[in-house]
Amino acid sequence: MKNNIIIAIDGYSSTGKSTMAKWLASEAGYRYIDSGAMYRAVTLYALRNGMIDTDKHVDTTRLIEALPGLTIDFCREGQRQQTLLNGEDVEEEIRKMEVSSRVSVIAAIPEVRHRLVAMQRALGEEGGIVMDGRDIGTTVFPQARMKVFVTSSAEVRAERRYKELLEKGEDVAYDDVLANVIERDHIDETREESPLRKADDALLLDNSYMSRDEQNKWLMETFRRVSEKVD
Ligand code: C5P
Repeated sequence: MKNNIIIAIDGYSSTGKSTMAKWLASEAGYRYIDSGAMYRAVTLYALRNGMIDTDKHVDTTRLIEALPGLTIDFCREGQRQQTLLNGEDVEEEIRKMEVSSRVSVIAAIPEVRHRLVAMQRALGEEGGIVMDGRDIGTTVFPQARMKVFVTSSAEVRAERRYKELLEKGEDVAYDDVLANVIERDHIDETREESPLRKADDALLLDNSYMSRDEQNKWLMETFRRVSEKVD
């Protein structure tokens, strides 16, 4: 059954894409790549270097100049996936609200996207990967054998994200999290460069009212069906 296909999981923010992508990767023996973490890492770099301010104005020229010098890698420590920005583990920092509230602005910059898409393609060259994001099935790997587009209501998603942030000890208000989810979706869907949209050949998964088990069952059945078709 192991055909080393590419699996693209796209969709709205906080739909649990990464949880399902990680689960499927571990069941299939594939590598998991979190493309959102790469946009978050570039955002953190811009923040730390004063290239984006509180009004989300970006010093695009300086950021574009810095892009070739940035490395982003992933490694695993037990069950924990780490995102490395120029060799430093930034996994915790890139999940914070100060990054979340700016990442869609950074991700809308065409040069940033070109650079990260090239890195993502290099990571997936050999197949045997599950990558989650917004444009994986449409732009990064339009040839992916399995494409899933995940959605659920903004309120359900904000509630999940809110609980996650509270568990991590962040002091946030539910209304701010909901506003951030809606704003990010809007920027992601309306940007010029590879906007968030379902690829024509992606399967739609609305998981608003699905349990984790139901979702995993659906994913595994789909994976089996698709990979059996591959020579
Ligand atoms: O997946 P996550 O929510 O961590 O992604 C953070 C942000 O990165 C998204 O809201 C989106 O703006 C951007 N992103 C993107 N393309 C991807 C992955 C993420 O534009 N493939």
